[in-house]
Amino acid sequence: MINLLDLNKKELEDFFVNIGEKKFRAQQTREWIYRGARDFSEMKNLPGELRNRLEKMQEAGEITLGGLKILDMRSASDGSTAKFLFELHDGNTIETVLMRYKYGNSVCVSSQAGCRMGCRFCASTLLGLQRNLTAGEIVAQVLACLRYVKDENDYPLSSNDERIGHIVIMGTGEPLDNYENVKKFTELLNAKDGLDLSLRNITLSTCGLVPVIKKFTEEMPQVNLAISLHASNNTSRSALMPVNDAYPIDELMPAVSAHARKTGRRVTFEYALTAGVNDSEKQAEDLANLLRHYFNHQAGNGGLCHVNLIPLNKVEEIGMEGSGRKQVLAFQKKLEDMGIPATIRREMGADIDAACGQLRLGKK
Ligand code: SAH
Repeated sequence: MINLLDLNKKELEDFFVNIGEKKFRAQQTREWIYRGARDFSEMKNLPGELRNRLEKMQEAGEITLGGLKILDMRSASDGSTAKFLFELHDGNTIETVLMRYKYGNSVCVSSQAGCRMGCRFCASTLLGLQRNLTAGEIVAQVLACLRYVKDENDYPLSSNDERIGHIVIMGTGEPLDNYENVKKFTELLNAKDGLDLSLRNITLSTCGLVPVIKKFTEEMPQVNLAISLHASNNTSRSALMPVNDAYPIDELMPAVSAHARKTGRRVTFEYALTAGVNDSEKQAEDLANLLRHYFNHQAGNGGLCHVNLIPLNKVEEIGMEGSGRKQVLAFQKKLEDMGIPATIRREMGADIDAACGQLRLGKK
């Protein structure tokens, strides 16, 4: 089965030529796809005969327009966040979060069904990895969110009033464990006749697969990089993140430091504050010292990092507690006093289990 959302312009042109249709149908179809069309009947400027033909191919299971089925949608009480549970064509389920900020809409996409990284505090990894998502399956999550905001406002499909301005690749899965598809996903969104989204408005978060980070630096230098750090020495980090045994801090940090130097772009370090585990003043000091060691003017990347503090979100099966407000503020202050800029992540969606680390393979 061909997912038309997996195809870039050239590939979609080839598809139409192969089925004996005109090449420019690709352009027309893409316009509707990236406006959020769910089926061929909505593609008004395609001839009726072609629409029928494509619909028949879809019914026969030869092609699909994304193939995400919305199983569930939950909206936070203040309307800021919506979480979707989608079913993929093979029955696997994934979650996607739409965040509405004053400055625009952001979507947090999943890159895999499940995850095999095994971080102790994260719900996404509880059932292991089912499979990688294709580029089109990641695109489909964004387009479903776009369609949702248009429908909510009763905007016609063709309107440009609602856009998706930012993407974070921070949902379920380890994006660098599915590198090629994630890379293609960013290219599809970036294409002028795709979503025309600047690569600088995309952020990828990784638990730290060092060889792939190096590739990312070479091949995707405009995409923002976030590193899930959560601890500043190997003993503590390995206890929280098994990946640290394969790629310890002393291999991770030089790669990230080189990334900042080569791209000239600021790296984010994510740090989930967990009560009694990694939230003491001493640990804040250790973290600041670690970052100062790898980010400074001598290294050619002074000032190009900052820390994003996330009070750990509750995961039912996991007996860890987020740090209290006082502890979070004290941790932030210590970092800032030592010259490391630190922000506290604005927590959205915790009441609908849509916050960081709470996404999982869905329950039907
Ligand atoms: N695999 C990628 C992206 C997914 S996780 C990565 O590890 O970065 C997105 C962010 O949420 C990561 O920083 C992750 O460590 C964090 N996270 C996971 N579980 C969490 C929890 N229970 N509370 C807060 N943040 C969590």
